[in-house]
Amino acid sequence: DEEASARAAAARVDSGAPTIFDKIISKEIPSTVVYEDDKVLAFRDINPQAPVHVLIIPKQRDGLTELGKADHRHEEVLGRLLYAAKVVAEKEGISEGFRVVINNGASACQSVYHLHLHVLGGRQMKWPPG
Ligand code: ADP
Repeated sequence: DEEASARAAAARVDSGAPTIFDKIISKEIPSTVVYEDDKVLAFRDINPQAPVHVLIIPKQRDGLTELGKADHRHEEVLGRLLYAAKVVAEKEGISEGFRVVINNGASACQSVYHLHLHVLGGRQMKWPPG
């Protein structure tokens, strides 16, 4: 029910512990990489919510567990992440229409505390999001 899911979401707080994305960066856990450069890694979401669903993450988390923890030192990588979203959309053939999402914190259903952009496309999106 709604109360149970709210509790579950609140339990997934930012502990600062390493996440599964560190193992994806180190290739300990396999992923399907669609774009990579010195700063960012883009790979397919394991539980896609659209025909194209790619996650883009900074290779160095450097305190960026969530967007709300960003500092001035992160400005460059934040720009790199957003630009990578455009590159991924082009590579994936969805430039004409795509969505970029950042879930920040428990009430936005963030579950992995390593900043990531969701790039979604390949179907008609709806608004408002859930
Ligand atoms: P939510 O889980 O509510 O979507 P996030 O915004 O934190 O919250 O998104 C984390 C995303 O990471 C999810 O879309 C999930 O499917 C994806 N994910 C988790 N583990 C893996 C993995 N091993 N490989 C690829 N994607 C993963």
